[in-house]
Amino acid sequence: MTLNVYNTLTRRLEEFFPITPPKVGLYCCGPTVYNFAHIGNLRTYIFEDILRRTLEYLNYKVTHVMNITDVGHLTDDADEGEDKITRSARERKMSVWEITESFSAAFFRDLEELHILMPGIRCKATDHIGDMIALILRLEEKGLTYTSGGNIYFDIGKLPGYGVLALLDRQELKAGARIEVDQGKKNPHDFVLWFTRSKFDHQAMQWDSPWGKGYPGWHIECSAMSMKYLGEEFDIHCGGIDHIPVHHTNEIAQSEGATGHNWVRYWVHGEFLVMDKEKMAKSAGNFITLEKIKQQGFEPLDYRYFCLGAHYRTQLQFSFESLEAAKNARANLMEKAAAIKMEARGELSPLGTKAKKYLEEFRTHLCTDLNMPRVLSVLWNAVKDTAITVREKWTLITEIDRIMGLKLSEVPVEEPELPPELKQLLADREKARKEKNYEKADEIRKQLAEKGFSLEDTSGGPKIRRIV
Ligand code: AMP
Ligand code: ZN
Repeated sequence: MTLNVYNTLTRRLEEFFPITPPKVGLYCCGPTVYNFAHIGNLRTYIFEDILRRTLEYLNYKVTHVMNITDVGHLTDDADEGEDKITRSARERKMSVWEITESFSAAFFRDLEELHILMPGIRCKATDHIGDMIALILRLEEKGLTYTSGGNIYFDIGKLPGYGVLALLDRQELKAGARIEVDQGKKNPHDFVLWFTRSKFDHQAMQWDSPWGKGYPGWHIECSAMSMKYLGEEFDIHCGGIDHIPVHHTNEIAQSEGATGHNWVRYWVHGEFLVMDKEKMAKSAGNFITLEKIKQQGFEPLDYRYFCLGAHYRTQLQFSFESLEAAKNARANLMEKAAAIKMEARGELSPLGTKAKKYLEEFRTHLCTDLNMPRVLSVLWNAVKDTAITVREKWTLITEIDRIMGLKLSEVPVEEPELPPELKQLLADREKARKEKNYEKADEIRKQLAEKGFSLEDTSGGPKIRRIV
């Protein structure tokens, strides 16, 4: 089966073929660690996790690289404003190093809680300053840079293909519409490769360089680190759609400017999580963290389930009401999975014709640009289908959950030990049922649910489980 994925570079759905199968190089822009990640950022990492799981499901050997931006990202993506980390350190009265350490740790905790597979290579910008300097020197040798006001800039006028990813046209590039003009730049879209003291004297993070003490621009880190770990041409580069016009456009300019050849084969971008029609952003007031949703009584996997309900290329509107719906749906799914696992005794089985059809549908939707809402509905249909056996259901659940990552396979199945008062309630309910007093039986079912147990009447008598 071949994965079809939407390539931003060509604006088309394309069949995915890696450069050297079965290896796949996957680079995902990581967080700028000056604050907690918000759930919008986390939506992007969930989509990237689905992509990675899919590639691994298709038997590719994925090298997943994610950077940690711990220096160089200014409040404006296009070189204006202040360094985000410096500002955060000042506001929180902490050192820049303390800020980046603590928010990196918080970020990886979030990934773990969302059951996002850890990138095999996690690399900090500050550990790769030498690689960035080497890359800037290559660009300098090729005549693609200039110095102005002490900073080293990339000269986009020297690179004919600049802006193809964002479909920026030459007219727009000349006019520099929307971008505030830095007096030091020849072209408004030129960008900084290396800042020196001349721009930020108070910057705590500084390194020696051929151009004087200073620190790197934001974009150069991703070019330097991705090429270091994945080679000078690799398969897939991901991020949120906001990165298309500036960050990724500039990454391409640097990498292709230095090597003189194509850099990334497939560019895959995730749409935004929005709230009240606005993009969720760290700088805006609508900033919600995973911690906040936990405080409101949700589990991280409820949020993962919520995200799987929308295609990664459509905007997703967040509200606590829709998160509540996702929570209930997930609880229901877990309960069904537990019941199926128990009846199937956790055993897998070969699939008959009907079950096989579910498997094929699942794979087709998955390989058609990661259509997770469709995958989810295939799973629900299979779970509810009375025409397939519980073992077939259990086989499908475990298979599909390799991608969904909802920990359905780990659902506990032991018959819970009931406290004496619940045993009494259960006996009262059996008695009520025998007497056809269904109202009372239902009332007792509700009471059990309030105490965290669900009940299913089977041919072998009532089966009780802890709601997971
Ligand atoms: P940052 O830490 O700001 O560099 O962003 C980390 C990742 O989150 C990037 O891939 C961004 O494109 C992505 N991102 C930022 N805001 C949102 C949002 N509201 N919804 C989805 N992804 C986002
Ligand atoms: Zn990046």
